[in-house]
Amino acid sequence: MKAVRYIGAGRPPEIVDLPRPAPGPGQVLVRIAGAGVCHSDLHVLDHGLGPLGPFTLGHENAGWIEALGAGAAGWKEGDAVAVYGPWGCGACRTCQASAENYCEHHASIPMMGGGLGSDGGMAEYMIVPSPRLLVPLGRLDPAKAAPLSDAALTPYHAIKAALPWLTPDATVVVIGIGGLGHMAVQILRALSSSRIIAGDIDGAKLAHARALGVAHTIDTRDPERAAEEIRALVGERGVTVALDFVGAQPTLDLCSSIVGRASRIAIVGLGGGTLHYAQGSPPFGCEVSMPYWGSRTELMEVIALAGQGLIHVETEVFPLEDALDVYQRLREGRIKGRAVLRP
Ligand code: NAD
Ligand code: ZN
Ligand code: ZN
Repeated sequence: MKAVRYIGAGRPPEIVDLPRPAPGPGQVLVRIAGAGVCHSDLHVLDHGLGPLGPFTLGHENAGWIEALGAGAAGWKEGDAVAVYGPWGCGACRTCQASAENYCEHHASIPMMGGGLGSDGGMAEYMIVPSPRLLVPLGRLDPAKAAPLSDAALTPYHAIKAALPWLTPDATVVVIGIGGLGHMAVQILRALSSSRIIAGDIDGAKLAHARALGVAHTIDTRDPERAAEEIRALVGERGVTVALDFVGAQPTLDLCSSIVGRASRIAIVGLGGGTLHYAQGSPPFGCEVSMPYWGSRTELMEVIALAGQGLIHVETEVFPLEDALDVYQRLREGRIKGRAVLRP
């Protein structure tokens, strides 16, 4: 089978032929319908993942059960499934609560998940180490649903934790309307009635936000001007929740400068910035969180939102063979919503 492989930091991925894997005891073989192309892969390709690799990329996967290894139960051939991405130990208290994204033993597990240290879904087939890491998709099309497992799950997790702040009189700013951000604005509209402001450096992404029902969009290429425009919109109270899907220095500084007292900043983007603290900035009562991915039960909730038609992944589907070109397009900001590779 064809697979898109990470081979080392600073090197482009390689498309190679691998034998079709067979599920070992307790494992599940999934036939991949689609693998989402996440911006985190660009960070991995550029900077590596410590000593890990080579491995097949693709950490946002869905498909159908192809075969169950000895002792693996609970699924039958042909079931449509999303693959839950952050693979923890499965046994610690946090994993038992389904939040494997915060596994207590993450530091001693030699990978982060399929496509992030272990072989992922940019291939025709993928081995999932345990049936517990699969979530039923019901009637959703697995190719279109693959990004739910990260591009939607990650903002859902960040937004769910921010719900106490997201009252109808509050304002939430979403920065970066790409794969994660375009899902964030839909999840916000589904779960809250706070006013939404979307920020991006790309006019096409801001137009996308408006098409998704966001009334206020701000060009953040000049962050100081953007901060002034946002302050003019929200007044003295300031922004209540800032969701940063970029995490670069200008966006972190922007978040600090627009939130009011008793607010929340969630830093999701891995853009390499540093959040500075000085008395008064961020203001008193501001909570800062660094959410990572989401839990298995939250993935079920995300799938339920999609099943009810309340959120929809805007996908651009490409054949697996186009992976290098797709990564380049993502790097240049030329993907609307989420790119999905279909083997
Ligand atoms: P993407 O490339 O699809 O979208 C990024 C968006 O940010 C684009 O619309 C781009 O125009 C915009 N942008 C870039 N620089 C900007 C700036 N200075 N100001 C405003 N907008 C700017 O990326 P994605 O796949 O949505 O991922 C977003 C970030 O989230 C990445 O850093 C990724 O690694 C990270 N991520 C984190 C987690 C987590 O669990 N914490 C999970 C998945 C992805
Ligand atoms: Zn990702
Ligand atoms: Zn664990």
